[in-house]
Amino acid sequence: MRQAIISDIHGNLEALEQVLERIEGEHVDQIVCLGDVVGYGPFPDECLQRLSSLADIKILGNHDDAVLGRTDITDFNEHARTAVRWTREILSQQGREELMTFVPHFSSEIAHYVHATPLSPMEWDYILNVFDAERNFTAFTQRVCFIGHTHVAYCFESTPEEFIRMRRASGFTLSNHTRYIINVGSVGQPRDGNPAAAFVIFDDENGAVEFVRVPYDVKKTQLAMQKAGLPEFLIKRLQLGH
Ligand code: ZN
Repeated sequence: MRQAIISDIHGNLEALEQVLERIEGEHVDQIVCLGDVVGYGPFPDECLQRLSSLADIKILGNHDDAVLGRTDITDFNEHARTAVRWTREILSQQGREELMTFVPHFSSEIAHYVHATPLSPMEWDYILNVFDAERNFTAFTQRVCFIGHTHVAYCFESTPEEFIRMRRASGFTLSNHTRYIINVGSVGQPRDGNPAAAFVIFDDENGAVEFVRVPYDVKKTQLAMQKAGLPEFLIKRLQLGH
């Protein structure tokens, strides 16, 4: 099975369209979306609609949950709060219903999939270092767990001796008896200094993991955000990839 795994689209339709075009040429069997389809960006409904029939597995993110009014936004920063409120106002009933079909996590023989952490999927914690990773390796049984949430692509591996280390987000092939937590990065708001949309292609038959970057017209999304009256800080960060 060949999968495209995408996350953190955040209403950035232009980035999503470019990613979907790339995925089309990759002949995948499944598209997995790890959540945060909405929040920050100007086209939440359009992104939800686009993924509605295309994504085979749809995981709930903290911004999705916040827009539905379930996750408390007092912990969000000011700009994120503003964007959540804006999204709540403009989101259609159909969009809300679509979001309500998203699941907190998903497990198959191939992998475990969750937005933030396998240990506490709805608490929206972060896996930022080997200590966070160590606790989380106990929370799933598969060889691989795919996550999003930090908007930075990376990978933690737990070797047969249970030695945990972080590796760079560059292509590799899974090793026998090693387990992985792979962060696929963000389609709509990368924060690793590279504004190009990020996602992962995974082939469970040969164990190949490919970290893909796709440039898109950032200006187009920025103009739509300006028109929507979204915070200047959020508009600027897109071109910095931060
Ligand atoms: Zn996010």
